[in-house]
Amino acid sequence: MKCDRFAREGSLALERGEPLDPHYASCADCAAALRAYRAIAGDLGGLAADAAPSGDWQARVHARIARERAPRRRWWWLALPVAAAATLALWVTRPSPVTLGLDVQVLPGPGQARAETPKAGDRVAIVATVGGEAAELRVYRGDEVLLRCSDAPPCARAEGRVSAEFVLPGPGRYRTLLVVGEAAAPSGGLDADVSAARAAGARVHLSDEIAVW
Ligand SMILES: [Zn+2]
Repeated sequence: MKCDRFAREGSLALERGEPLDPHYASCADCAAALRAYRAIAGDLGGLAADAAPSGDWQARVHARIARERAPRRRWWWLALPVAAAATLALWVTRPSPVTLGLDVQVLPGPGQARAETPKAGDRVAIVATVGGEAAELRVYRGDEVLLRCSDAPPCARAEGRVSAEFVLPGPGRYRTLLVVGEAAAPSGGLDADVSAARAAGARVHLSDEIAVW
């Protein structure tokens, strides 16, 4: 099989001004190729001086190759810090996750002593931790909505919390519902409203029941 190493490597080495290793002298194929190369180079050398390339042509070819490769390489080196900065910006600007919470306390009403069980006239103090998210508080008696607010009275919204207070009007089973996210208006009673809110992608917290006899 004919050796083509001079064509692949030797001629390139000569063009770069690098020395040839001993293979090119000992290999018949490469020696022939080298002789042919030198003959052509000699012919070229005999051309009129103004037709020959200037002495720095190799340097200019290599500089041009480097220029044409450069944009791709430059893109990479620019892209990395840009991607890192974007990641950092996301990390910095993403709101820290808030642990949603719903705290419901029964307090004695004005001038009343705290009884062992809630009774009509007791106050219910509600504090929901919601961070910066849209949130709505509702109080149900059975399936009836007694209170519904988000950031207007009787709700108050401050520092990532929505709070409200109401007085237990009489006997019944009361539950407080916190809806975080976009919520549909209540329509079908507590269980149906919870299902509808969840189906709409909202998060839902439901307090324990407060029973008044
Ligand atoms: Zn060879």
